[in-house]
Amino acid sequence: MREALTLAAQGAALGEVPVGAVLVQDGKIIGRGFNCPISRHDPSAHAEMVAVRDAAQAVQNYRLPGSTLYVTLEPCSMCAGLIVHSRIQRVVYGATEPKAGVVVSRGQFFDQGFLNHRVLVEGGVLAEECGTALSEFFRQRRQKG
Ligand SMILES: [Zn+2]
Repeated sequence: MREALTLAAQGAALGEVPVGAVLVQDGKIIGRGFNCPISRHDPSAHAEMVAVRDAAQAVQNYRLPGSTLYVTLEPCSMCAGLIVHSRIQRVVYGATEPKAGVVVSRGQFFDQGFLNHRVLVEGGVLAEECGTALSEFFRQRRQKG
């Protein structure tokens, strides 16, 4: 999660909402990403999406069984779908996302019966630091006007 926070800060430096993600398989980081939809002109460039693409390329596999995704913010519906499609085993997130999070905030996406893959979820890891990175970013942006 520390590495994900470092990535989030890289995004913030580019003016992106600071969210970072890291994918770990067999104790090794195989993918990294930070939220960057503005600079990439890509609405799908959420931190999770970028990290999963990076990992899938690294291991040359469209599925990532046994892997753990660490992300600083509760995933949205798009990324939750991606997590299932990627066959990620476990998701560990930091801060909750009251507006768009679908793990606990706006619904329990991973509990839906039709899903053909079960994902283990753990939330609230370094939640305060992850949340502070976001609130600090928005506070500074408001000050700049
Ligand atoms: Zn997302």
